[in-house]
Amino acid sequence: MKQIQTNKEYLRSLLEILEAPELRQVLSKRADREAPPTRTGKGKVEKVPDQKAICAAALAQLRELFIPKTQGLKEGVEIPFMEICERCKFDENEKTIFALIVAGEISGQNLGDNYRNADVFVKIISTLLGLPKMEIMPYFLSSSRLKRSGVFTQDRYGRDEALRPPSNLKESVIELLLNGNKPAKKKKSVAKTARPSQIAELLNVNVIAQETAKRQLSAVAFQHMERIGKPPAQGVAAPRLNTLLLGPTGCGKTYITRHLAEILGVPVVFCDATQYTETGYVGACVEDMLVQLQKAAGNNPKAAESGIIFIDEIDKLRAQNVGQSHNTERDVSGLSVQQELLKMLEGDKLHYEKSGSMSRPEYNFSIKNVLFIAAGAFQGLGDVVSERLKARTHIGFKDQAASAKAEYEQANLMRQVRPQDIIKYGFMPELVGRFPSIITLDKLTRKDFLSILGNQRTSLIEHYKNFFASNGIELGIPPTFLEEMADKAAARDLGARGLNSAVENFFAELMYELLDRKTGSDPQKVNIMDCLDGNRLKELFA
Ligand code: ADP
Repeated sequence: MKQIQTNKEYLRSLLEILEAPELRQVLSKRADREAPPTRTGKGKVEKVPDQKAICAAALAQLRELFIPKTQGLKEGVEIPFMEICERCKFDENEKTIFALIVAGEISGQNLGDNYRNADVFVKIISTLLGLPKMEIMPYFLSSSRLKRSGVFTQDRYGRDEALRPPSNLKESVIELLLNGNKPAKKKKSVAKTARPSQIAELLNVNVIAQETAKRQLSAVAFQHMERIGKPPAQGVAAPRLNTLLLGPTGCGKTYITRHLAEILGVPVVFCDATQYTETGYVGACVEDMLVQLQKAAGNNPKAAESGIIFIDEIDKLRAQNVGQSHNTERDVSGLSVQQELLKMLEGDKLHYEKSGSMSRPEYNFSIKNVLFIAAGAFQGLGDVVSERLKARTHIGFKDQAASAKAEYEQANLMRQVRPQDIIKYGFMPELVGRFPSIITLDKLTRKDFLSILGNQRTSLIEHYKNFFASNGIELGIPPTFLEEMADKAAARDLGARGLNSAVENFFAELMYELLDRKTGSDPQKVNIMDCLDGNRLKELFA
């Protein structure tokens, strides 16, 4: 097999595989269903292509493209596709799906066809691999690694959760795939001179509820822009307000940060604290965050210096004995990563001593102005606060139900978190000291879920309406559907994440049913509550 040297060659090879006439024929016949042999005019039986064999061959070729060193991608040749896959730790199936998406994107196929082809193809892959039931949908859900990796852009409503079939791979990723590491285009910044209230107003467009957090975060953002905008000679620099976002899962910690970065026009990277280990151990080291930021900034040091590093699940770094001694029964994974983080937060340029053969990831910018936003649910932190306040307060809730009281109490406690509580919870005082801003986000309520669904910019439903409309189906969505979805999300207790997955699951089912049923080119009108059989509907609303 030929050596692939450039991205263009890579993509050409990819498309050659995916565009092979026999594969296209199989896919266009909905290969997941056994097509009966058809009789030609002369009574002869037309040979049915061996669908599985064709797909298996295509899959084998696709996989070869991902093998570095050997015939496929040459090691040492800068091909961002591999980089992206590696950085995101995609497994073989994710790579294959990513490849399909990339190929579809570049070949500019029709959105619906592209999705359906990928869907069918993945079903066949799963059959070939003997996996129980693998569908493409999970790879597009919010929780999937493909989606969390950030290789997809947000759709025009600013959401990052929709099932977005191939056509919206991030522009910068396509650029990278085609041309290598070119500097990213400078984003337009709307907030260079914006006041906090204006930033909050812009956040309001996409972020439902969380009024206090929006206000506080806007003030942080304002000071960040002040700090990066003014050279040190112009007097005292604004303080760096590294921020801790506390809030239950799915309340919008990541989402609000993403929008904030967009408003400010600064690069942002999203990291997961649980991936990191002490330098020298297996796993990512904290410096990787800086390398990622540099990449997100298109290798432009100036842009990287103004960027945001979002560290999710910081609460998982909690160490048990931090309040006592640092040396006895040390919690290696938690505490040592805390120490590494501290070095990064304290430093301008980092100077790590790396053990043995580990090479130092390269980055080349000053981190003194980078804004760190760390987030986590901090379960149990309310108890720490409550213990501190116990002697002082007693709040009476005589006529409220016990659970409502507990919930209210918890939320109330989380708003009163002080640095000493986080230290007691299991964080090094020095590290906590590096996060002068602590912002609490509220748990989203059923009412908030209805607002999310009712808002054109935040509702996934709009996306699906458009998707079906482009396939000639006009969806009628009664208010009862919104109520059911909000109820389901409230019961799941996963915040808007639960809401999104309830909506996604429903529409996945609908997609399967309706796209098959649609015949002819006339637009069709349907009420979504009448499309699925009663039992299935009950299951989806349960
Ligand atoms: P977490 O708090 O766990 O970081 P995310 O920010 O990832 O939660 O939220 C998951 C998804 O839920 C978001 O991508 C977004 O679609 C939706 N979402 C969360 N909070 C809000 C909100 N306040 N307003 C609108 N949508 C939201």
